[in-house]
Amino acid sequence: MISIVVPVHNEEENVGPLLAELTEALPPTAQAWEVIFVDDGSTDGTFAALGRLHATHRNVRVVRLRRNFGKAAALAAGFAEASGDVIVTIDGDLQDDPAEIPRLLAKLEEGFDLVSGWKMNRQDPWTRRLPSKIFNRVTGFVSGIRLHDTNSGFKAYRPEVVRGLRLYGELHRYIPVIAHYRGFRVTELPVNHRARTHGRSRYGVERYMRGFLDLLTVTFMGRYRNRPLHLFGGLGLALLGGGTAVLAYLTVVKIGGSAIGQRPLLLLGVLLIVVGMQFLSLGLLSELITSHHEERVGDRDRAGLLVDEVLR
Ligand code: UDP
Ligand code: MG
Repeated sequence: MISIVVPVHNEEENVGPLLAELTEALPPTAQAWEVIFVDDGSTDGTFAALGRLHATHRNVRVVRLRRNFGKAAALAAGFAEASGDVIVTIDGDLQDDPAEIPRLLAKLEEGFDLVSGWKMNRQDPWTRRLPSKIFNRVTGFVSGIRLHDTNSGFKAYRPEVVRGLRLYGELHRYIPVIAHYRGFRVTELPVNHRARTHGRSRYGVERYMRGFLDLLTVTFMGRYRNRPLHLFGGLGLALLGGGTAVLAYLTVVKIGGSAIGQRPLLLLGVLLIVVGMQFLSLGLLSELITSHHEERVGDRDRAGLLVDEVLR
């Protein structure tokens, strides 16, 4: 079965047509599918519209969040409800074309765990497209996984990817990065994109600023979650090394008989040592937190998230 997860916030005019398009793209006779609408605290008639769809269609399920928690939370709630062998996420604003779902699924069948829709001909104003382009470049550079459209809401997943994907804040933008760090096979596929006709886009430009901070979170967690000392300790040792060299040199100068009290280098040496010590202790402290956490997680749970397949 295919589970289609649709986060919606004030999309009352879009949910009905979306369901019609889904039904056209996925004939129920070919393969079973369900659609899970997650109403992310809509203040218009979205929930009522969803209630009507639920009453008339067997394969429509609706989750209503208590208030507007944002897209990441909405997706997480939808994933928790999804029981399909394949999970598809699609925006509820009709900008993504449901007719592309079979192509996404076919790509997944080629042996991928996550196929991300790439809005190649994006139908949004340039004020949206340009920042997005920069955002994707930076994300690719920092994270090491190069996609043209990381943040696309149109994706197909194997359920394993979605399990254990702790989405909070605005981390949904980096799902491919998180999946990549967890060892899943991630790829992208160009998909058709359409202009918004009903409702309006709710994101401003400030999202890119927050997005960059989230990128730091995601790459740091992906690379150093289990070994923070390697990052902080590495930095600390480098600074300590530099500081020691500087102070050793000054010691030699002092023994040689010159005064060093007025040398700016003295300040630099001391600074390097102090900051280096701080990084080192920060690293040890993080390591302590990590090891505490590791003790709490059962061996089975931890290993379970890493295993691709087992031949018994
Ligand atoms: N959305 C949501 N919660 C929010 C904001 C948006 O569930 O707080 C949904 C929205 O209804 C749509 C999808 O997320 O289905 C994408 O939102 P939008 O079109 O505003 O973003 P854009 O496509 O412009 O990036
Ligand atoms: Mg949109």
